[in-house]
Amino acid sequence: MYYEVHTENIASRGHAPEIAQILRRFALHRRDGETASYEELSAALLPDFGQDLMILEPTADGDYRWLHFGRDIIRYSGANRLGQRLSGMRERVARFSIDSFDQALAEDRPLYTVHRSSDTVRVALWERLVMPTVTRDGRHLIVAFSRPLQFREDLLNAVLESSPSGIVALRAIRDTAGQIEQAVVVTANRRAAELIGRPETDLLDTDGRESLPFLSDPSIWRRCLYAIDLQRADMLEVSFTHDGATNWLKVAVAPLGDGLLLTLTDITDLTVANQTLQMRAATLALEIGRERATRRALSEEIGLREEREKELRRLAEEDPLTALLNRRSFTDKANAAIVASEAEGTDIALIIVDLDHFKQVNDTYGHPAGDAVIRAFADLLLGQLRNERNLVGRFGGEEFGILLQGCDLASAIASARQIQDALLTRSMPVSETLALKVTASLGVATLQPGEALASLTARADQALYRAKNEGRNRLGLAEPVSVAAAA
Ligand code: GH3
Ligand code: MG
Ligand code: MG
Repeated sequence: MYYEVHTENIASRGHAPEIAQILRRFALHRRDGETASYEELSAALLPDFGQDLMILEPTADGDYRWLHFGRDIIRYSGANRLGQRLSGMRERVARFSIDSFDQALAEDRPLYTVHRSSDTVRVALWERLVMPTVTRDGRHLIVAFSRPLQFREDLLNAVLESSPSGIVALRAIRDTAGQIEQAVVVTANRRAAELIGRPETDLLDTDGRESLPFLSDPSIWRRCLYAIDLQRADMLEVSFTHDGATNWLKVAVAPLGDGLLLTLTDITDLTVANQTLQMRAATLALEIGRERATRRALSEEIGLREEREKELRRLAEEDPLTALLNRRSFTDKANAAIVASEAEGTDIALIIVDLDHFKQVNDTYGHPAGDAVIRAFADLLLGQLRNERNLVGRFGGEEFGILLQGCDLASAIASARQIQDALLTRSMPVSETLALKVTASLGVATLQPGEALASLTARADQALYRAKNEGRNRLGLAEPVSVAAAA
C-alpha cells in the first residue's frame, strides 16, 4: 500500500488550503510545548472544519474508535464509521492509520500523511493532518483533518504545465440550429500562451478564432469544425506572424467532448531550416542550369568558330570563281604530295591546261560569258579527275594545273587525252541559250627523282608552250629534266 508520513514542512505539503489554517490554530493551542488541549482545539475547529474532521480515541487493546466522523468524509468514502473501531477498515489501511496515530501521540507533534485507499471508488489518495491532543481528564485523543487529494486534477495540471507542447482545449458553442458559432478556450497551458505570444490568463474563455492566430485562417477553422463534427483527429501545419516574425506550428487536433484538444509544437526552426535548404537547392539548380546553358552556348560558339575557321580556310584555299584550289594552296599541297611520294616511292605527274584563244571568247561574248566558260571547264576537270589523290587548281586566267599522284607518264597522257576528248564532244554552257565549244592546249611532265615542284611546273609549262606553238588543241610532253633544273 502506498503511504507517506511527514513531520516537517506540513503547511507547504498539504494540498487543501485548510491544512495550513488548522495547523496555525493547533500551534496556538499548544503553547509552552504542552500537549494541545482537546477541549480547546475541538471547540476552535469543529464549527469551521467539522465536516472534514475525525476524532479518535485509542482503545486499551491497541486499536482506535471514532468519536466523530465528518460529513464530507462520509460523502467521499461512502460510509459512516462513527463508534466503530479502526481495525474494521481494510487491514493495511487500518495498520497504517493506527501506526501514524500512535506516532503522533508518542512524539506529541502533528503529522501529515498521504495514503491510498482502495475502499472507495472515486477517491484513490487521501491526505490527513493528524494532531495529538489531551482532554482535561487526561485522555489522549487524535483529531485528524482528512480530505481526498484532488489528484487527477493535480496530475493533469502538472502534466499541462510541464509539457513542452502547447495544449489548448476548446469547447464548441452552438447556436439554436446546432451550428458551431464559437470555440471557447477552456484550458490553455503556459507553453501554449508562450507559443501564441500572449498571457495565459488572456486566453481563457476567449473565442479561439480571435485568440489563437492560426484559427482565423478559414481553411484551418474548417478543418477544426470537421474534427469536432466527425470526431476525427487531424494534423495541421500552420504559420502566423508575431512581432514581425513568422512562426510555424504543428497542430495535433483531437476531438474532446463537444470540442477540441489542440497540441501545439513549435516547428519554426525546422521549417526555416527546411526553407533555407530548399532555397539553396533551388539556387544550386539555377546555377547548374546556368552553367549548363553557358557550356552549351560556349560549345555552340566553339562549333560556330570552327565552322567559320573552316570556311575561312576553304576560302583562303579556294579560287572564288571556280572553287578549285587557288595557286597558293595548290602549290602547298603539291609540295606536300611530292614529299610524301618520295617517302612512298610513288610517281607524280603534272598537267597544265590553257584554253585556246580565250581572249576571243571575252571579246565576242563578254567577260561574264568568259567567266561562265572558265567555271564550266573547271567543273569538267573536277568531273574527270577528282579523287582523293589528285589536286586540281586554277593557276590564273584560263590556266589550270592538275597534279596526279601515283601516276606514271602513260597514265598522265591518258588523263590529258580524256580532257581533250571531253572538250571535243562537250560545249561549255554560258547561258540557257548559249554554249561554246573551246579547245585547250596541255603540257604534261612527270616528276624526276629529287626534282622540286618549281622545276616540274617549268617543264610542264614549256611543254604547254610548245603545244601552243605547234598549233594549239594538242598535248606537249615535257623534256626530261635538265641537270640545271634538277639541281
Ligand atoms: P592563247 O592562250 O591561245 O595563246 O590565246 P589567249 O587568247 O587565250 O591568250 P592570252 O592568254 O594572252 O589571253 C587570255 C585572256 O583571258 C586575257 C584575259 O582577258 C582573259 N582572262 C584572264 N582572266 C580572265 C577571267 O578571269 N575571266 C575572263 N572572262 N577572262 C579572263
Ligand atoms: Mg589561253
Ligand atoms: Mg592563258
